[in-house]
Amino acid sequence: MIALGIETSCDDTAASIIEENGKILSNVLSSQEVFHKDFGGIVPEIASRKHSELIGYTIVEALKLSGKTMSSVDLISVTKGPGLVGSLLIGIEAAKALSFALHKPLIGVNHLEGHIYSLFLDCSPLSRVSDPFPLLVLIVSGGHTELVLMRSHLTYQVIGETRDDAAGEAVDKFARFLGFGYPGGPIVEKLGSNGNSNAYKFPGLSFKDSSPYEFSFSGLKTAGVYFIEKNPDAVRENIQDVTASFENALINILVERTLKAAHDFNVRGVGVVGGVSANERLRKTLNAKSDLPVYFPAKILSTDNASMIAFAGLMHFKRGEKDDLMLDAHSRLGL
Ligand code: AMP
Ligand code: MG
Repeated sequence: MIALGIETSCDDTAASIIEENGKILSNVLSSQEVFHKDFGGIVPEIASRKHSELIGYTIVEALKLSGKTMSSVDLISVTKGPGLVGSLLIGIEAAKALSFALHKPLIGVNHLEGHIYSLFLDCSPLSRVSDPFPLLVLIVSGGHTELVLMRSHLTYQVIGETRDDAAGEAVDKFARFLGFGYPGGPIVEKLGSNGNSNAYKFPGLSFKDSSPYEFSFSGLKTAGVYFIEKNPDAVRENIQDVTASFENALINILVERTLKAAHDFNVRGVGVVGGVSANERLRKTLNAKSDLPVYFPAKILSTDNASMIAFAGLMHFKRGEKDDLMLDAHSRLGL
């Protein structure tokens, strides 16, 4: 089987062609970063307009690079939520049009489930583990920070999430207050890569025992903004140490909670997905502190992409599920 994946939940217009075993034949991403970065975040109206301009080219390019034609595609998978409704609708309508015109089955995919399935694509080490379950997955992105327990394929138990901001949101705000553009994570990572991560102290979590699998990042975010306001000299002269220290505090929260849950639920391994999982300090710290195997997607598959959507759709389709032309966008959608 050959699947086409379409992803337009946020600011990236993406299309991909994969084979049934998760082998990626093409993975095309038309980034809208330049259109949003001066605003310090994503402007929904701009995002949907750019999606509608780019979606056709992106799908055609994905087909071209894969060497396949639309007639050889057996399934169309598209992100149905969560995300920006105006953005989701562009991908969904494109997918429906192709499905209707070419009589191809259609399936709507939960974006978070897509991120999880980035771990199972053919290029990921986890795809070669014969029985990875129970598996703990940390989803850590611009809008989500949650711990998910998987006892088998396509089953999810959310055991903890953030009470307030997502980890990505906190680092994006910190970067914005430093005067850098969006997205903040890669900028902070680059600035802090040679900095001393213990130079400045940023707060961890205060509710250690009451909710051991929950996260909170609003305290850290506020502390970061406060630090920038109160310490202009440090920001000017020591930006490497400031960014390294902030990033280190954020990562310590993620790592401590994840390893506690992994231990308590007696899992076989830990997976980390979503935009923040591209972070090298997070990868190194978790690998160093975990006595269980830790799995990350290839960095290019950590951030939003359509290969993961194509694969999650295939998993559902092989179980006999599919959608019809009533498929709709859902801005809020849990696992
Ligand atoms: P997503 O919502 O999955 O597309 O992820 C986007 C989020 O990931 C944004 O908050 C980014 O700042 C963050 N992000 C992307 N790359 C990195 C990185 N290398 N380090 C930390 N955060 C990152
Ligand atoms: Mg995402």
